[in-house]
Amino acid sequence: MKGKINLKVILIVLFGLAVIPALWILVFNLEGEKPVIEFESPTQILSIGASKDITVLASDQKKGLHKVKIEIVKDGKENVLIEKEYPKAGFFGAGVHKDTIKITIEPSKLGISEGKSLLRLSVWDYSWRRWWNGNITTIEKEINIDTKRPEIDVISGTQYVNQGGAGVEIYKLSEPCVKNGVYAGGNFFPGYSGYFPDKNIYICFYALEYDKGPGTEIYAFAVDEAGNSSKRGFNVSIKEKKFKEDSINISDSFLNAVMPQFDMTVDKNSTNPLLDKYIKVNRELRVANHNKLKELVQNPEKEILWQGAFISFPNAANKASFADHRNYNYQGKLVDSQTHLGIDLASLAGAPIPAANKGKIAYVGDFGIYGKMVLIDHGFGIFSLYGHMSSSDVTVGQIVEKNYTIGRSGKTGLAAGDHLHFSMLVDNVFVNPLEWLDASWIVNNITSKINDAKSVSGSK
Ligand SMILES: [Zn+2]
Repeated sequence: MKGKINLKVILIVLFGLAVIPALWILVFNLEGEKPVIEFESPTQILSIGASKDITVLASDQKKGLHKVKIEIVKDGKENVLIEKEYPKAGFFGAGVHKDTIKITIEPSKLGISEGKSLLRLSVWDYSWRRWWNGNITTIEKEINIDTKRPEIDVISGTQYVNQGGAGVEIYKLSEPCVKNGVYAGGNFFPGYSGYFPDKNIYICFYALEYDKGPGTEIYAFAVDEAGNSSKRGFNVSIKEKKFKEDSINISDSFLNAVMPQFDMTVDKNSTNPLLDKYIKVNRELRVANHNKLKELVQNPEKEILWQGAFISFPNAANKASFADHRNYNYQGKLVDSQTHLGIDLASLAGAPIPAANKGKIAYVGDFGIYGKMVLIDHGFGIFSLYGHMSSSDVTVGQIVEKNYTIGRSGKTGLAAGDHLHFSMLVDNVFVNPLEWLDASWIVNNITSKINDAKSVSGSK
């Protein structure tokens, strides 16, 4: 009896030792978990132009990756872009579990024609399923092969642009483009659709910085969804402008009156903390304010709100011009130099300031060197800026008509006396405000170009 039981136990143990691992191996190797394949950023692969880089992520948690195949299926024909095999997984699945595949798709090299096609991603794992063929996952995405560059048809005639001034270009695109506008001296100015009934016609206000003269490259640019881009020059004549030099004496009484409002720390060993603070404000805070301003003008109104010439601060004396090169002297010694990117207009203290044209209030509040500031968005990238105000009761988002009182003049910020600092911007480039205050400049350079384009486009 005893021997029989022992034998039974031994047989069961032996059976267990042999069969359980065998079952375990079978279960492990016959795993049914599908491998995963996906685009790193699926929304970016709707269109493929002359060349497109895509990134595909493949993974398999269990037995590991066996094979990845990426192909474009066009008119029933499979064009393999890549077929990649991974080292065989060991008995216990020690293969590759994760891979990032980067490929460049160039349809013309593959002989793939324009139009709709399928981008197919397939991945196999090392499972023993399907008679050792493994689990497979396939995903397909409909894509548009578009290797044609957008065409830019320039509508506006010859343009005359001043150094430090603005211009407008009107053009028609052959297809919708994700980015289009004008590059002028390296700055990009977006074009806006919607003014003309033909949605493919764009208006683009652009500008030349005060230090960009004749020889500066200006051209229209467009890039479609597939990444095909075009550049197109137009007839533009740049007029050189010389700007003034100006000397400003920094007195101790000015420093005493103006500097306490600024929170800026200076070296505690400084022998003249007020002057050092002034220099720091004039340099660093000025740059920080201009960087913040670039953010404020990023999303302008998508319609032209202004009409006709912009209006100036009434009964005011012109105290400083646009792009004056200012040398700041303290006790006869040059301590700093900056460029004045607006005009200074002085009237009576606390005089009412009119909105230069119709627009939407984009900012109101303290703004560093500009003190209490109002920024008006006139649409399509045109902005007006009012600095050093003593008060303002407009609110952000409010639409103001031309000549509406937006506040009163003052001497907040970096200002010695009561005056209005008035700037005009085209996107984030400061331009000479005198152009916008000049009715005949507006007619000759802006409104006549828009009206000419109306007649050319037929105004359907
Ligand atoms: Zn000023």
